[in-house]
Amino acid sequence: MSNLKFENRLFLSSPHMSGNEMKYIEKAFEDNFIVPLGPNVNEFEKNMVQYLGEKDIYAVAMSSGTAAIHIALRLLDIQPGEEVFCSSATFIASANPILYEKAVPVFIDSEIETWNMCPESLLKAIEAKKKTGKIPRVLIAVDLFGTSAQYNKIQEICQQYNIELICDAAEALGSNYQGRKCGTFGRFGILSFNGNKIITTSGGGMLITHSKEEATHALKLITQARDHAPYYLHTELGFNYRMSNISAGIGIGQLEVLNDRVNARRAHYDNYKKELKNTPLVFAQDLDHTFANRWLSTALIPKESNKMPKDLLNFLNEYNIEGRHIWKPLHTQPIFSENEFFSVKNEPVAEKIFNEGICLPSSSNMTKEEHLQVCKIIQLFFQ
Ligand SMILES: *Cc1c(COP(=O)(O)O)cnc(C)c1O
Repeated sequence: MSNLKFENRLFLSSPHMSGNEMKYIEKAFEDNFIVPLGPNVNEFEKNMVQYLGEKDIYAVAMSSGTAAIHIALRLLDIQPGEEVFCSSATFIASANPILYEKAVPVFIDSEIETWNMCPESLLKAIEAKKKTGKIPRVLIAVDLFGTSAQYNKIQEICQQYNIELICDAAEALGSNYQGRKCGTFGRFGILSFNGNKIITTSGGGMLITHSKEEATHALKLITQARDHAPYYLHTELGFNYRMSNISAGIGIGQLEVLNDRVNARRAHYDNYKKELKNTPLVFAQDLDHTFANRWLSTALIPKESNKMPKDLLNFLNEYNIEGRHIWKPLHTQPIFSENEFFSVKNEPVAEKIFNEGICLPSSSNMTKEEHLQVCKIIQLFFQ
């Protein structure tokens, strides 16, 4: 074991600078723009719109992806007690903003192909809600681990039932579906630049909208909802959610290398598939019309192998490698014990992937040698 053990901890997903970030940060210092707005913020937003490559989209940088989800819900005027559909297989940040508004998440199971919201389970939930006379107005769909949800189906259902779609693409910047970039689907898209995401601003997020008015309103809401007046005038509830001009400088430098980061992570995924094909690990196939950024390389350990994710994670830990469980489904979280969950499966997919799945080291700055070493250790585990 000793010769395979990593001397320094190998992280699951670590920041990876381009080298240009300092240039934009230094500019902020030169101009004394050490504030939560400024030229770097504007430039970062502009570059993101260009990257996403669609006409009539607007980007508003914020302090986090969670803040962006919260603002999307505020713009949709979610009321206390109102129900909101949400994927169950996701990080809790997708659903926490629903609670900020004292609204009520109704969780939907995943499909096995993408691990994202299952259209059949969604329809089952809609049928059940129809009987109560009130179908939720808003749905939060997630692009888990960088694989897009099947928006052709989800959007069709949303249109049919007048449901507004918020796409939590926090993990899926650089992915696309049917030629469109993740983050551009739905009424609102959400991006995150947290430290472990595919690119980082050290902490930050972005709201993507298709309406200039909404972007302007969002900007107002994240600036304590200050009205245009010679003094501080406020007519609605605001927040302090703006992105710092320093953080945005990091973001500009990071966005320049996004494509490289996506390619590196995808290469890791392909390598895992190749090197570990003689182990029980099951990796997802690339889907038609879907380009996944492979933010995290994930795989299932089938039950029949008699191995558990926690055993592999402990094993990796002994070699100083950080792995991670798949997100524990939100409908199984104690904080959501009273919330409804809909699935068409006896064994919900969200639970199956949690019980059998793992996230493997995926950093774009992991070297080929490090990667092969990880593969060797995983092979050892299954021997
Ligand atoms: C990271 C993440 C978020 C939240 O983003 P922050 O910038 O950390 O607030 C939301 N949803 C998902 C699925 C995430 O992975």
